Amino acid sequence: MSEIEERKFGELTVRIDRLICVGFGDCIELDPTPFEFDDEGIAIFRNGAATVDESAVVEACRSCPVDALTVLDPDGTQIVP
Ligand code: SF4
Repeated sequence: MSEIEERKFGELTVRIDRLICVGFGDCIELDPTPFEFDDEGIAIFRNGAATVDESAVVEACRSCPVDALTVLDPDGTQIVP
């Protein structure tokens, strides 16, 4: 598994920096549709979660206390963090 995981959710691109993630779980608590923990307690994308509520994903990414989650808008502009 790579250190940076990237996935498209609708118009948004979301990245998980798995080296920064420390497994607090705030993102998963807020929106468990796109995220889950791997066996080591680090966030990964949940398989088959291509269709999600985009605003919920943005809120979940904003909740990360260590800024491990990045969101880009359709123009490639970073909107989180
Ligand atoms: S909120 Fe941040 S630190 Fe916590 S599990 Fe999600 S990505 Fe990892």
